[in-house]
Amino acid sequence: ELANRMSERSVDVIKFLMQQGQMMKPGDIIEADLAELIASEFGHTVRRVAESDVEEGIFNVEDNVEKLQSRPPVVTIMGHVDHGKTSLLDAIRKTSVVSGESGGITQHIGAYQVEQDGQKITFIDTPGHAAFTAMRARGAEATDIAVLVVAADDSVMPQTIESINHAKSAGVPIIVAINKIDKPGADASKVRTGLLQHEVFVESMGGEVLDVEVSATKGLNLDKLLEAILLQAELLDLKADPERTAEGSVIEAQLDKGRGPVATVLVQTGTLKIGDIVVAGDEWGRVRALINDKGEQIKEAAPSTPVEVLGMQGTPLAGDRMAVVENEGKAREIADYRQRVAREKQVAKNAGQRGSLEQMMSQLQDTGLKEFPLLIKGDVQGSIEAIVGALDALGTDEVRARIVHSGAGAITESDVALAAASNAAIIGFNVRANKQARDASARDGIEIRYYNIIYDLVDDVKDAMSGLLSPER
Ligand code: GDP
Repeated sequence: ELANRMSERSVDVIKFLMQQGQMMKPGDIIEADLAELIASEFGHTVRRVAESDVEEGIFNVEDNVEKLQSRPPVVTIMGHVDHGKTSLLDAIRKTSVVSGESGGITQHIGAYQVEQDGQKITFIDTPGHAAFTAMRARGAEATDIAVLVVAADDSVMPQTIESINHAKSAGVPIIVAINKIDKPGADASKVRTGLLQHEVFVESMGGEVLDVEVSATKGLNLDKLLEAILLQAELLDLKADPERTAEGSVIEAQLDKGRGPVATVLVQTGTLKIGDIVVAGDEWGRVRALINDKGEQIKEAAPSTPVEVLGMQGTPLAGDRMAVVENEGKAREIADYRQRVAREKQVAKNAGQRGSLEQMMSQLQDTGLKEFPLLIKGDVQGSIEAIVGALDALGTDEVRARIVHSGAGAITESDVALAAASNAAIIGFNVRANKQARDASARDGIEIRYYNIIYDLVDDVKDAMSGLLSPER
């Protein structure tokens, strides 16, 4: 890459490195100082570009406190398969269409807005925690509130627990929708006690988590659910400055045959307007058209509005952050820079640099963090409890294990996504990872360690925590 950018042969660069006593092969990573030395040695003028230079000012532009205004909450629906996530999303959308507005045909753009008591609520239209976690792993903290759907005839199930842990690890408050109360076998109180065991305390159990009994298919109490969301939103006091330049997250993106790259963006702050020049991930473009969830062309999109953006040069990825920049030159520079960084990161990831116990420990040391995040899957609940107990006992004043999720069963892709989002390593006790999980862990550089003796497991974590990891077994 460096040779390429200098228009030199890579063999000459490698030769030069050898003379410096550095044995390297193509694809190895060269430190910035060394790269600078090489470049000047080959007669090039070096201009150092740090991320902070390129991206300066495009994200986290200070909000003007005086301009802050309330914005609608953004809600994701999570829960166990077949508990009614999709039905609930459809039912909520339908109520808003019936109640009128323009009566336009609703389009699926990845998110939609409804109105309740004159206040708006934005729903992310992809149910489940997989999408939520994938977005988080890419740095998009788009969700304000998680609605946890639990079927009253089935109660708390494994993915219910996963969803709870995903929401907790993101620090997102939960509202419980106890669904299917129309069914003969429905038992809402069983759901409430079931949740108790996972530290979700609903109001009637003396806690603060709002819960609403609903039926998605019969359309029961949907208004109550929306009211609970608005109440929770009020507590969160969600605000944004609509007058500043826009920032948001890509929820979905695809290449449309007729329209070119189409990205659905959730505007999070500022107002996105036609003509704005935007960067999303490593793509850029000039906003040619904005289309809302009712298929209408709009001129601008305020905070918490989901909108289709036309005019990107390429297709960004779901979860990419989008920001408005001042001109095309800046946009190109950032996109180019990010494409390069992405390539470099890929190389580093392939080398398994992230998520390994060693790497994590050194990161912890660097950042002064005192928690050691782990995700634990085991064959039976009993052994998991024993492991969690033993790891808890390892904690000292300086460092302790933080279990982001534990559960019985094989290691799945969703486990890997959560580990990636929380920077955790995965431990499998008497279980293996399935194929999708193995692929995902290789792609994201997340380490998975397998054990069948608790003592070995605890010992390795102990060593890692004291910074003295035993060699790979
Ligand atoms: P998801 O996998 O969580 O998205 O669940 P779905 O929305 O696909 O629902 C799974 C099944 O439960 C479907 O057959 C729905 O018709 C049914 N279902 C969903 N909500 C209700 C409800 O409130 N009452 C009843 N009786 N059935 C429901």
